[in-house]
Amino acid sequence: MKPDIQDTYDELLEIAHTLSDIAAASAVLDWDQEVMMPPKGGEGRAHQVATLAAVHHEKLTAPRTGDLLARLTDAMAGDGDYSIVERAFVREMQRQFDQAVKVPPLLVRQLAEAASRGVEIWRQARANNDFATFAPALRHTYDLKRQLAENLGYTDSPYDPLLDQFEPGMTAAQVQRLFDPLRDQTRDLLARINAAPQVDISIIEGNWDVQKQWDFGIQVLRDMGYDFDAGRQDLSSHPFTTSFTAPFDVRVTTRVFPHLLTSGLFSTIHEGGHALYELGFDPALARTPLADSPGLAMHESQSRLWENYIGRGRPFWQHYFPILMGTFPDQLRADDFERFYLAVNRVEPSLIRVEADEVTYNLHVILRFELERALLEGNIQVEDLPEAWNAKMGEYIGATPPTDANGVMQDIHWPSGLVGYFPTYSLGNLIGAQLYYTLRDTYADFDDRLAAGDMGFILAWLRENVHRYGRIYSTNELVQRATGKPLDESYFARYLGEKYGPIYGLEPQ
Ligand code: ZN
Repeated sequence: MKPDIQDTYDELLEIAHTLSDIAAASAVLDWDQEVMMPPKGGEGRAHQVATLAAVHHEKLTAPRTGDLLARLTDAMAGDGDYSIVERAFVREMQRQFDQAVKVPPLLVRQLAEAASRGVEIWRQARANNDFATFAPALRHTYDLKRQLAENLGYTDSPYDPLLDQFEPGMTAAQVQRLFDPLRDQTRDLLARINAAPQVDISIIEGNWDVQKQWDFGIQVLRDMGYDFDAGRQDLSSHPFTTSFTAPFDVRVTTRVFPHLLTSGLFSTIHEGGHALYELGFDPALARTPLADSPGLAMHESQSRLWENYIGRGRPFWQHYFPILMGTFPDQLRADDFERFYLAVNRVEPSLIRVEADEVTYNLHVILRFELERALLEGNIQVEDLPEAWNAKMGEYIGATPPTDANGVMQDIHWPSGLVGYFPTYSLGNLIGAQLYYTLRDTYADFDDRLAAGDMGFILAWLRENVHRYGRIYSTNELVQRATGKPLDESYFARYLGEKYGPIYGLEPQ
């Protein structure tokens, strides 16, 4: 780098560090709000978070940031010896800058207000099972989101720029191409499962000491390689992962139910998978926009890989079931293993996405994707939403919600302005399956190692092939590098067939 370009680069890096510090401080406030804050702290906290957001936006969109970016982009367009990290850093800063300057400050504020007010209205309306009082707030949110899409710009669908905020570069048409066959294959498999005898889950029901569940979860987190000197687990009503400057302080939360043995554990493993990802970023990327996943799909692939592909698998429980028996000696016996394995893998058409099993989960997501896209493109109206929701639930999953509270109003995403977010959950499942089979191909003794309690080789592989790169590569590039081929959705179908065929005694197809 020429000295003048080096100075320009260093100044932009300084701005990135400041932006990262502001975002990390805001994340601490959010974490505190969910985990620690007394109820009366809410009003002050809303002001603090809004102030930090405004300072962040101002710093990011300052003319000086634009000048530095223009100079660097110019320099990098010519020949010159720039590392892949330097180029990626400038690319990411430019992307964030371009998005931020396209959105007028008034719209930023309107979106923030609509989100915080929308969530309050949604909570009330959901408690009263009253979609009619929620509908105006939702209509307002979608109006603002359409404006946002216009400001950001698009060629095909207003859905594209919104999806792009969560999964850069992905379009609605690409998602549709992946989801159409996934939906049809899943419905076929579900029909075959529904025709088979149902598995019994009474083995994980009952009354399970909450402290013992907690301790068991901590042990599993530790075994996965989670570093308690760089994180901690706390309780919150909705489990989440957050980081205050990754990879140095990445925290998880969970919730534990006395009546269902494994629910809290799988939340812990899920969030642990997210946290291991951020703890694995190359420390040299810290305090820059590259200390992040390329998109939410890759992030979700990590949580799903640990929770489902590993944590709900037979080898994992060959190691952990005896330990769980030791934790609950009066409630579990060695010959319960098979019942237990089946119980944690039961497939059942259900109403609530967050409680859905691995097979039906994507149907919940596809339904939401189709509806939010239709709303944005004006093909359905907000007042028609409950009916459209229930029709698709009946058609895809075979379960029709008796109430809107357990139907169209169940998720916090739309009221809080997260439109275009849902597809990343299922994309994460697809990427997770591809990574899982790549791991199996790499390690012929994959199952044996897991059954012997070894998970270190999995984390080491993920660190080497996925985690350390942060946001240097795009999702597609990272999938290609880690697995040797582009995203291939057939791995997920193969996984479901291989796993659930034996569980439900299905004839091979
Ligand atoms: Zn997740």
